[in-house]
Amino acid sequence: MTVKELPQEPLEIGLTGGIGSGKSTVSAGLKDRGAVVIDADVIVRELQEPGKPVFEKMVKRWGEKILSAEGGLNRQAVADIVFKDTDELLALNEIVHPLVREEIARLRDQYASGTAPIILDIPLLVESGYEDLDGIIVVDLMSEEAVRRLVAYRGFSEEDANNRISNQVIREERIEKADFVIDNNADLVSLGEEIDRAWNWIEGLST
Ligand code: ATP
Repeated sequence: MTVKELPQEPLEIGLTGGIGSGKSTVSAGLKDRGAVVIDADVIVRELQEPGKPVFEKMVKRWGEKILSAEGGLNRQAVADIVFKDTDELLALNEIVHPLVREEIARLRDQYASGTAPIILDIPLLVESGYEDLDGIIVVDLMSEEAVRRLVAYRGFSEEDANNRISNQVIREERIEKADFVIDNNADLVSLGEEIDRAWNWIEGLST
């Protein structure tokens, strides 16, 4: 009698890092190499579209001052409120996190029948206590360089970039939780090599 092989679930790897550290670049690179990606930022944006549950709850709390002329969310207005006041940031997190978690859980179930490694790209992974993953990759970047890139490539003011970074867990705390660290302090060519290294590590986990 042959023993039926148990179906193997795909690996689930968390990907995190500070704002502007290079998470999106890394998750795109891992996707190119064969992973599927669950992107928490994309989920948040979808749930913040007019009429969606997160949008409705945010407008209920902060009123029309967080709306753009077209009736969508004015992200800068929200940032101006929450990144200067930790109580407001807490309130935003209480609105956003439960619904995002729900959607992440739904997508994990959906991808569980496949074989491709699942990358969970979640900026606040360390803070949110995802403990049932097969590993955590942290993209590491010095704060000064993160501020420089956010200002140079993403149109942030220096003050805004600094405020956002100071609201995050400190770099060392994040690295402590990492099973694999991607160093993104050098150029994009070096980052490509780091992504190759990470992909080899992921492939090694499944053997
Ligand atoms: P966010 O926290 O805002 O979601 P992120 O962590 O996803 O950001 P990316 O969007 O991947 O970060 O990178 C931030 C910016 O820095 C992008 O414009 C990206 O092209 C650029 N960038 C990423 N890595 C490097 C690098 N090694 N050298 C130069 N620019 C880089």
